[in-house]
Amino acid sequence: MEGKHQEKGLIIVYTGEGKGKTTAALGLALRAAGYKQKVLIIQFGKIWFSGEVVAVKKLKPFVELRQEGKGFVGILGDRQPKSEHRKAARSAFADLEKEMVSGKWDVVIADEVIGTVSAGLLPESFLLRLITAKPAKMDLVLTGHHASAKLINKADLVTEMLPVKHPFTKGILAKRGIDY
Ligand code: ATP
Ligand code: MG
Repeated sequence: MEGKHQEKGLIIVYTGEGKGKTTAALGLALRAAGYKQKVLIIQFGKIWFSGEVVAVKKLKPFVELRQEGKGFVGILGDRQPKSEHRKAARSAFADLEKEMVSGKWDVVIADEVIGTVSAGLLPESFLLRLITAKPAKMDLVLTGHHASAKLINKADLVTEMLPVKHPFTKGILAKRGIDY
């Protein structure tokens, strides 16, 4: 059961307005780690603490998580110029691309990279280029709001999270262990 299966790697997209994109990607990482697959998670746009940052350390050396980017864009007290966000997004993307083509990883997760594109911090052509450069057997997971038709067209598996209900609308704020 060790190592990576030999099949073609998939392009997986978790998108939509409902909750569950990041946690679906983390669940997939957990499952892959069970087969000793090597998983890299790069979180775009998150710089605050979330439980997974500590939890994945317990999955060493199979899972590694890097938080890059500069946090929320234009909301929740963000005062950074867009140029700073753009710079951080570009540098996170460069890291992602370099790691992806290195051949070191069985699974690469670019969490919130789609949101980074829909926020105008990265051109969509970068994502399409990333998909083209994907090593054949590696699985690539992309998450975030507003996946474009082009991206959906290139992906093998697309799940759209639909917000049927969210406690936020009842005034229940983010909960430790559930939301972060
Ligand atoms: P999670 O990280 O819980 O899997 P997500 O990745 O789908 O959620 P993001 O858009 O990355 O969602 O936003 C993360 C935060 O926003 C989480 O705290 C989540 O609970 C919250 N959130 C997600 N969807 C909604 C929604 N429809 N209404 C309000 N808050 C939401
Ligand atoms: Mg998320």
